[in-house]
Amino acid sequence: MRAISFSGVMREIYWFRDDLRLQDNPGLLEHAQATALLCVFFWPRPRPWCNVSGIGVQRERFLLESLQALRDALRARGQDLLVLHGAPELLLPELAAQHRIARIGVASSVGVDEQRQLERVRGRVGIPLELHPANTLFRQEQLPFVPGEMPRQFTPFRERVEALDVDAVQPVPDALPPPPRGARFAALPRALASPHPGFTARGGTAAGEQRLYDWMWRERAAAHYKDTRNALDGLYASGRLSPWLANGSLSVRQVALELFRFEREETRNESTRWFWQELLWREFFHWRARVDGVRLFAPGGIGGRRALCCFEPRAFARWCAGDTDHPLVNALMRQLVQTGWMSNRGRQIAASCLVNELGLDWRYGAAFFEKHLIDYDVASNYGNWQYIAGVGCDPRGGRHFNLAKQAAIFDPDGEFTRAWGGLRPVQPRYVVDAADWPI
Ligand SMILES: Cc1cc2nc3c(=O)[nH]c(=O)nc-3n(C[C@H](O)[C@H](O)[C@H](O)COP(=O)(O)OP(=O)(O)OC[C@H]3O[C@@H](n4cnc5c(N)ncnc54)[C@H](O)[C@@H]3O)c2cc1C
Repeated sequence: MRAISFSGVMREIYWFRDDLRLQDNPGLLEHAQATALLCVFFWPRPRPWCNVSGIGVQRERFLLESLQALRDALRARGQDLLVLHGAPELLLPELAAQHRIARIGVASSVGVDEQRQLERVRGRVGIPLELHPANTLFRQEQLPFVPGEMPRQFTPFRERVEALDVDAVQPVPDALPPPPRGARFAALPRALASPHPGFTARGGTAAGEQRLYDWMWRERAAAHYKDTRNALDGLYASGRLSPWLANGSLSVRQVALELFRFEREETRNESTRWFWQELLWREFFHWRARVDGVRLFAPGGIGGRRALCCFEPRAFARWCAGDTDHPLVNALMRQLVQTGWMSNRGRQIAASCLVNELGLDWRYGAAFFEKHLIDYDVASNYGNWQYIAGVGCDPRGGRHFNLAKQAAIFDPDGEFTRAWGGLRPVQPRYVVDAADWPI
């Protein structure tokens, strides 16, 4: 519902979250009808938990680049982006009063903290706060079940949604209203890191669209995705689109529709269908997270099943530092910290090591991934960790990877392990002594 002021002037705020794009952004399109629009973004402030705090330098770098790209695109249309550090529930009411704002629009996102934050904003702001769909393939109304009846496992979910239509991509708004008079926009800080040569992705829609084009059309890599997707490294082994999908610089519908076009114009085979299935995994975790709420972060997961584990801080510190007794895991962890990236197979191996070899609480591993992954996405990260730990949606009750076997299959000549220094110990060395375990 649109709130119209007596003067006929409609000043509105559009609050960007995980939808850092102009194209296919229903919320932005709706608020582009205002007479003045203030575009804002709040810098993430993850709560310290599980011995982890802050965000890693590569994740920060990618986010800054994404925001700068969004800001440039807005500026090209007479708009701008106000990036704020602070609590939305405190700053939005101030901004609303200062600029006499009539309503606020924001993209919906999953995650308990995010939902609670929205409720706090709603309670304080005193004007309508409208939620818009943003980062999923399907709208809630399209789903053939109510949220409470969402399948707990992937296969029945896939069977019920895979034939649904994917909405056409909405255009970039032709024109955007100007910011309210008097709004001030400071420059964004410079990133502390450059992209690592091992993963050179840059933030922003243009870079994401270029990657989509290069991977799908120029290299035709979607046509043999099934054969290469499990590789630990390799520029075209998998789509590597997740960083842009996670912060919404790319719309997942855009990626899906491009895949369908590739299938019509180039080839439709097992590989292209497998890629579609992976997009459905992302969708599954998203809608599950909405239903699971706080259970997504519970040690016993969605079923309340308590796994036997004991927290040993040095074992966790060694895993984080890439200094375990498993060279492949060490290489993977160093790749993660230095680049902000790890392949899907690599994540499964590193996660299985933490849960099964080190016997640690899975949430500590998930928190460390959250800090460093440039494609961090609350639903996919915590959902996949639960899956490996056997407290999520895996019908087989968890995955225990044989690390020696994984190394033999995916790094047979040890090239990946050597490249990331997996055999080199780090300083300081940690002592693992039975006497140091908590009783
Ligand atoms: C322990 C663990 C933690 C993970 N944390 C994240 C995370 O924070 N953010 C994230 O986006 N993915 C996460 N994943 C899923 C997966 O590893 C990444 O999506 C994938 O590696 C991204 O690489 P890609 O873009 O080349 O994927 P591709 O193989 O090209 O797949 C295409 C897209 O499908 C989606 N996708 C693929 N596999 C999965 C999956 N298992 N779960 C959900 N979506 C999937 C991604 O959006 C991906 O971009 C995690 C997996 C594990 C095992």
